Amino acid sequence: MLNASIENIQPLYKSATLPFFLSAVEKFSTESLPLLLQETNNLHYSQLLLLKITNLLVLKYQFLHRHEHLLARPFGLLVDPSNSCPLRCPGCLHNTYFRQHKNIIDWPDGLLSLDTFKLFLKQYAPYALYMHFFNWGEPLLNKNTPQFIKMAKGFCLDTVLSSNLNVKFNADDLVHSGLDFLIMSVDGATQETYQRYRQGGDLELVISNIKKLVAAKKKYNMQSPRLLWQFLTFEHNVSEIPLAKEMAQNLGVDVITFNEPYDVSWGDPSLAADNKHLEKTIFSEYTPDTQNVARTIESIESNSSHIEKCYNQNWHTADGKDNSPLTVTHGNRCPWLYKNLVMDALGRILPCCYVPEKSDKYDYIFSTVTPTNHQDHFNTDCFIEARKKIIGSQTTGAPYHDEKIPYCMDCNNRKVANIDTDNFSKYFNKYNSAHSFKPLLSETSINLLANWSN
Ligand code: SF4
Ligand code: SF4
Repeated sequence: MLNASIENIQPLYKSATLPFFLSAVEKFSTESLPLLLQETNNLHYSQLLLLKITNLLVLKYQFLHRHEHLLARPFGLLVDPSNSCPLRCPGCLHNTYFRQHKNIIDWPDGLLSLDTFKLFLKQYAPYALYMHFFNWGEPLLNKNTPQFIKMAKGFCLDTVLSSNLNVKFNADDLVHSGLDFLIMSVDGATQETYQRYRQGGDLELVISNIKKLVAAKKKYNMQSPRLLWQFLTFEHNVSEIPLAKEMAQNLGVDVITFNEPYDVSWGDPSLAADNKHLEKTIFSEYTPDTQNVARTIESIESNSSHIEKCYNQNWHTADGKDNSPLTVTHGNRCPWLYKNLVMDALGRILPCCYVPEKSDKYDYIFSTVTPTNHQDHFNTDCFIEARKKIIGSQTTGAPYHDEKIPYCMDCNNRKVANIDTDNFSKYFNKYNSAHSFKPLLSETSINLLANWSN
């Protein structure tokens, strides 16, 4: 029934006005709830899933029509628990050069507070599918990171963390948080090679942390987090690929991938990327961790009243601003301005994962999450002006905060929409598998939700 309804909505993307489209989505949501409830026997879980699906339907409509002001929320959330990092990788804003020239990059040290995280979570997590806990810092420097993950799971978010593992942390807490995926950045199998890129890194500490994580997974009998060893391939380290594979297998890592790094020669001219050894070895096939999924579903009860409130909110009345459909264009697009929201450890909202620079001309910070800032951070003047520019509509050209313009105004990186079909599929199928009911969404439905091309 869900699938048939999603398929029926598709023709409306081209023909319907926004009010008509929203009515169809609301009808879909109301009619689907009792049917989903029969399958899941869990009201708030059903409401949450429908909230995420309806949000995707509306978001796709608003992207295809290049709306400037959005009723829908982002489906992917990126959060930095820490702005700091103990390492100095040459291609990163934490490298030695930027540490010595603090007037170039606008990236103050700091750790994300629980209060700021809660504000962000409440506003966006009910609608989103995943949260990535990394951007430009080492997330495990923040002792609250396992708590952040637990809270995100309370809204059924898939959680991914990327770490260099050069920190002492409580592996039991991290595993028990319900984290789904852990990317471990280890680009070498001996200390000498490893530290060429991961400057200041200690491979012995990394290996001991991997052992603790594997032991914690055994202790709690958990398949998650799935442990992914990510090895960036440079000319100086590819000779250690066989040894790294052997070590990963012996340690109990699930997957090792050999990926080409982006160009870091500007940070260290002696480092040359290698693209001839890209490969992936899977030591254990991915299967959803049904125990973790069951715990996740249980944990959403702590947010039941908020979920209910969001589910019952009428899309029509979510905002009074005019959003009449524009002609669908094949022109410029930047999906970042629709699909993601990025917050650093200081609560600063960025348009994407670009490094904010200190600039008199450009504004890289589109909003800041604070207890007194009640605006929708996804619809600030900066976001709206940036979306206007991308679709080629008239911008005011007026400077915003501190006489600056949003960085997007002059950014040329506006790629074809690449929406995460695989992630959508993994997300919805994982929750099906935990309940052994029929797949919630068919492959066709998932493709319809994820295909934003026009
Ligand atoms: S580990 Fe990551 S955040 Fe830290 S310096 Fe290296 S690239 Fe930057
Ligand atoms: S237009 Fe450029 S700066 Fe703006 S969100 Fe897209 S990629 Fe980032």
